[in-house]
Amino acid sequence: MTALTDLTLDVAAVRADFPILDREVHGKPLIYLDNAATSQTPSAVIESLSDYYRRYNANIHRGLHTLADEATAAYEGARTKIQAHLNATSAREIVMTRGTTEAINLVANSWGRANLAAGDEVIVSLMEHHSNIVPWQLLERTLGIVIRVIPVDERGVLDLEAYRGMLNERTRLVCVNHVSNALGTVNPVAEIIREAHAADARVLIDGAQAVPHQSVDVQSLDADFYVFSGHKVYGPLGIGALYAKASILESMPPWQGGGEMISRVSFDRGTEFAGIPHRFEAGTPAVAEAIGLGAALDWVNAIGIERLAAWEQWLLGHATERLERIDGLRIIGTAPEKASVASFVVDGAHAQDIGLLIDQLGVAIRTGHHCAQPVLAHFGLDATCRASFAVYNTPEEIDAFADALEHVLGMLR
Ligand code: PLP
Repeated sequence: MTALTDLTLDVAAVRADFPILDREVHGKPLIYLDNAATSQTPSAVIESLSDYYRRYNANIHRGLHTLADEATAAYEGARTKIQAHLNATSAREIVMTRGTTEAINLVANSWGRANLAAGDEVIVSLMEHHSNIVPWQLLERTLGIVIRVIPVDERGVLDLEAYRGMLNERTRLVCVNHVSNALGTVNPVAEIIREAHAADARVLIDGAQAVPHQSVDVQSLDADFYVFSGHKVYGPLGIGALYAKASILESMPPWQGGGEMISRVSFDRGTEFAGIPHRFEAGTPAVAEAIGLGAALDWVNAIGIERLAAWEQWLLGHATERLERIDGLRIIGTAPEKASVASFVVDGAHAQDIGLLIDQLGVAIRTGHHCAQPVLAHFGLDATCRASFAVYNTPEEIDAFADALEHVLGMLR
């Protein structure tokens, strides 16, 4: 085992915040290693949801009564927490969405439809999640835009030379993930953004797998759009956010119509839309979930994202070491800079069988294409096993997972 130096994380105290970690699965203690799909929820977040429904559930913004005031203040407070977490200049730059997928669809349908035309080029990378591919393919069908794809090498590293070669006067937008969910690769997004801006293109960064594992500063990155999901960063399901520079958001038309996103509706004098960010939040939002996401970010900040990241890096190193010792196991995604994802395949054993059997031993890993079929196809695969780590995981859990895996492989091969 690698020496554990200078990490002051009290993982037992961290784990005590997560009631679900006490449960058993098939009579065995749960070892939850599917954090890239969704992370577990600390008591502080569960309590914030419960507190909302017990004490101040109300529809927001239009109410004059006390509960509506309190709910509005807490919802807008959550927006401010997200702003601070991403270091955006203003809370006006934060649009609440259902998550990463909805945020990307918002950009495609609002900014995309207003700014893209037939022949315009959108660059995506081969390692994108389907949610950062399909919205652009829909515009390919309807608007006739051209999608260009940044290739990936055998380690799972983006080919930046090829990327530079793709940038041209037709390039309007570059869409890449900050961290790949299928490979764990941390992409050099600052450089990607700089190059895109030099070519006068805008950039959307999918931060779904970055926000849970590292600090993100949208100002120093100079990202035009940055999106993430709450449920991967210890928050509730069904809430996430789009960051966009105020000047860009101001120029974007609404993408959904309804209540909350207007300042006045009239059949005679025309309808006027609300200012940003509310223009992009039609209908009653997920108030409790937004407040829960704010509580999750508070929880992360109480630990400290640097400490959390250091712990996860150590877990990743330990897991990689253990997995590499297993005969016939190949790690998919060996980039020099990775976040806490270990994707792998094993000779003579299908990922699906491994996933099902290891669950019988209480270990939750993900198997399949991870909504990233193009990059798996690049490795000649249709599925991998993926163990992904969060701050509450322990080296003992990783050892138990590796032992369970060896046991399962003994049954399968
Ligand atoms: N992008 C990446 C890199 C992801 O890992 C995920 C989820 O796994 C998504 C986008 C989609 O997130 P959501 O389903 O929360 O919208």
